[in-house]
Amino acid sequence: MNETIPNYIPNFKEDRLKVLEEETSKYGFGDKGKLGIKIASVSKDDPIQLGIIACKDFRVGEKIVSSRPYAHSTEPKIRCDGCHKTKEEGADKMMLCGGCSFYAYCSKGCQTLMWPVHKHECKNFVGYKKIAGEFPSKTTRLAARVMITARINQTLNGNLKIIDKLINIKDEKDVEMQESVEGLSKFAITLLQDNPAKLEFYKEYIGKFSPNVIGHHNPQNTLLIPLLTFFNHSCNANAIIHQKDLLYSVYADKPIKKGEEIFLNYQDGSTDAERFDILQKIYKIHCHCDKCSVVENTGSLDVYYRCKDTPNCNGRVDIRYDPSSNSKTNTIALCLKCNKTYPKEPLIKKGDKIKETLSTTFKFEYSSRQSKVQALEQYFEHFHVYDGLLMDFFYHTLIELDIPFVIKRLELYLKHKHGQNTDPYYTFLIIAAPRLVETNKPKLAAYYLDQIIEFDKKFNLSSSEYQFVFKHMRGVQLSNVKTDNKSTFGPPDKYFDTDIKY
Ligand SMILES: [Zn+2]
Ligand SMILES: [Zn+2]
Ligand SMILES: [Zn+2]
Ligand SMILES: [Zn+2]
Repeated sequence: MNETIPNYIPNFKEDRLKVLEEETSKYGFGDKGKLGIKIASVSKDDPIQLGIIACKDFRVGEKIVSSRPYAHSTEPKIRCDGCHKTKEEGADKMMLCGGCSFYAYCSKGCQTLMWPVHKHECKNFVGYKKIAGEFPSKTTRLAARVMITARINQTLNGNLKIIDKLINIKDEKDVEMQESVEGLSKFAITLLQDNPAKLEFYKEYIGKFSPNVIGHHNPQNTLLIPLLTFFNHSCNANAIIHQKDLLYSVYADKPIKKGEEIFLNYQDGSTDAERFDILQKIYKIHCHCDKCSVVENTGSLDVYYRCKDTPNCNGRVDIRYDPSSNSKTNTIALCLKCNKTYPKEPLIKKGDKIKETLSTTFKFEYSSRQSKVQALEQYFEHFHVYDGLLMDFFYHTLIELDIPFVIKRLELYLKHKHGQNTDPYYTFLIIAAPRLVETNKPKLAAYYLDQIIEFDKKFNLSSSEYQFVFKHMRGVQLSNVKTDNKSTFGPPDKYFDTDIKY
């Protein structure tokens, strides 16, 4: 690449807010703008701490703002580089790029859309593979695309101008972060076959993205949406992100009054302890909300065991600091209901073993239904709540076991823990519903289909997954099935405790 790099990085720290207000007003921000939101200083102590303030009232489910990613990269060969769809998700066909045979396209339209960016990297993929022995990772590909997009000056949504105004997260003490920015910049130079002398420029630019950016990472895609970075985090957020194809939209999840700050939860889907830890380490946020304070003050791991030794207690045993000592190093296992303490190590050890058995049983292709049920029973006897492991199995095989109480409990757990308007719950619905058709549980399936329709009405999301589920269920004429959510699930099982607030 021979284009000269314009000086995109002015020294703006002092009048950052003023510059941002001017730039973003062109895209509908500000008191008089059509979006009804503005970027403003939200901290008296730290005037350059910015956030998004509502300039009007928003009702639940109302869309606040939408943005396409500034740069994105997806799984090569099986997902379309332009729309990220696979054939299963509705792409008509999948044609490999003739130049690199690496990225694939579902249509001429998607290829044309991506070519201005892809033409700068296409041949270089092959060259990179020769040097590195493998194709570049998705993070390297994303970093390179950020650079390419900046050079070809794509200012969609004003994204480029907004990126320019982002503060470089120069944390001199954070060696790990410095190293990853440096490494990523070097990889991007290699991929673009660029001049190594530009390293400092690349570092400066890439340094703005990690982690002070909304990066939606999943195993398939990685992408950057700078417009959304101005929303601050709250563990009790009043807004939520939903995605339709490559359009990311922020919706009000609670009623928001004019003048209030609008927050997103950066770590929705984690346990309280995980979230508290990630917020500190990755986002450098020390959260003082109620949930985080419990974690900080008690050392709670937010992983609960079942109280078994006190008759009829069935309380949750948490591992936390010993309340009888002032030390914040020594943790004990304590029932939050009856205060009985347990030896910590055996609980953890037994728990690890049960999880291991569960993993092997569910991963082993020829495991019998009986052994799976047994492994699950063991899990519920020992643990009080669901965790990520059970979610993983749910998405793969748990639902095929056809144990309605497990499905119902997972539903309740996701509703309580993450909320009914969230993606974890929606994902649960669109996975559970068609599988329940297959296992001949039409009433339960119809109940979940109703929830999907309700969700869709609220957020107007006709995602490809939704269409797929809908078609599937229309095919079996589920609309005639009467739903009856009381009798469908049967009585609560012996492990289920309706008093617990997750
Ligand atoms: Zn496509
Ligand atoms: Zn190519
Ligand atoms: Zn918090
Ligand atoms: Zn107890």
